[in-house]
Amino acid sequence: MNVIWTRSIVSVVLLAVLCAALGVLFSVKAALILAILVLLVQSIVSTFHKQRLWRLLDAPVYGEVPSAPGIWGEIYYRLHKLAKRWHAQVRQVEQQHSRFIQAIQASPNGVAMLDDHDQIEWCNAISEVHFGLDAKRDLRQHITHLVRQPDFVRYLNSHLYDEMLIMRGMGDKRQNVLSVQVFPYGENRKLVLSQDITELERTDAMRRDFVANVSHELKTPLTVLSGFLETMRELPLGETERTRYLELMEQQASRMRHIVSDLLVLATLEGDGKPPSSSQMIDMRAVLRHLKEDSQSLSGERHRISFDADEALTVTGVETELLSAFGNLLTNAIHYTPDGGTIHVNWQVQGECAVFSVIDSGLGIPAADIPRLTERFYRVDRSRSRDTGGTGLGLAIVKHVLQRHDAQLEVKSEEGRGSTFSVRFPAARTARRQPAPV
Ligand code: ADP
Repeated sequence: MNVIWTRSIVSVVLLAVLCAALGVLFSVKAALILAILVLLVQSIVSTFHKQRLWRLLDAPVYGEVPSAPGIWGEIYYRLHKLAKRWHAQVRQVEQQHSRFIQAIQASPNGVAMLDDHDQIEWCNAISEVHFGLDAKRDLRQHITHLVRQPDFVRYLNSHLYDEMLIMRGMGDKRQNVLSVQVFPYGENRKLVLSQDITELERTDAMRRDFVANVSHELKTPLTVLSGFLETMRELPLGETERTRYLELMEQQASRMRHIVSDLLVLATLEGDGKPPSSSQMIDMRAVLRHLKEDSQSLSGERHRISFDADEALTVTGVETELLSAFGNLLTNAIHYTPDGGTIHVNWQVQGECAVFSVIDSGLGIPAADIPRLTERFYRVDRSRSRDTGGTGLGLAIVKHVLQRHDAQLEVKSEEGRGSTFSVRFPAARTARRQPAPV
């Protein structure tokens, strides 16, 4: 027997005993009046508490327990305990739900959930960007009404989701490439995952271009070489012709050697992840001496070459790499400046930066070509570069070396008037050597 029964029976018995006592002591009438009064009070109290309970159930208050004597106090207390437990459970589920949403929002991929009619139930911020959606506005909209690309509509309706779909983005991401895959779950619901693979596609295209370019660059001298070999095997050649052919074959072999060696330099630079030391000062005097000697021997007095250098000024980094980058700029100036032209090398502080410039009075470069100069195998004029034995990789190497040294390449040029290639080192890499003791 529970507490309610016990209390009810006790109160009925008490009331009966009291009425009987009154009946015996006074009269039956008095006993009846008491019984009616007690029942009336009890009914009023019970109505009051029912009303209160009703309000409480409508809008539960978790913090405080309404006070009441007797059984009503017990009911309120138990109800309060129940409401508190239920409230804690709801809060826990809400927290889990919000953590789950935060995790999906943090994902670098787009996530959209579709109901059994392919209507959007929810999508994260990345998915909004990928498909040009608005999570609030487009809720319950059929996804194909918003993402109307025929490829996507066909893919969604095909119900064959083993493969992913490659498609263009929507909205502001029209130029981007997306990989999209649908994963069915639950009762006919779908999860649409999307990933922006623009960068991946770009590097893939660059890799394909690079392989095609290398093959093309090596194929040309190889074809020439095999042509000469065939001629030499099939035709009886005189001594002079034979010597001439061998010379030409040697030229082609050396061209291939240059390409391969430049490619190896590039691969080494790219493969070396760690930046050059920022505490090792290079010996700029030695670098300038090498540059002077090499340029004079390459030009063979066909150009007027001058140097204006602050020899105490130096930078930190890898000397061999910087010598090769500066040498490349100077070699280009000599190659692309007709005989009799001038080439001037400048090494000075400008503002807070150390700047190395090569200024030539050569052929110059059309403005449209300047931004592309550092691309691998890019040449302004193929035949001109071939004449000089250029590989089209020199400035790509320069760019890599400079990137590793936090330096920037600036090119100014005017067709027919000459070019200026400047390398600007940041203040953090610039240093000054103490003059040697007398
Ligand atoms: P290359 O080995 O062909 O010289 P680079 O990468 O060093 O290759 O240079 C790319 C192209 O930039 C060259 O083919 C040439 O057309 C152009 N170029 C570079 N330096 C100069 C310069 N000083 N004057 C004119 N054109 C230049």
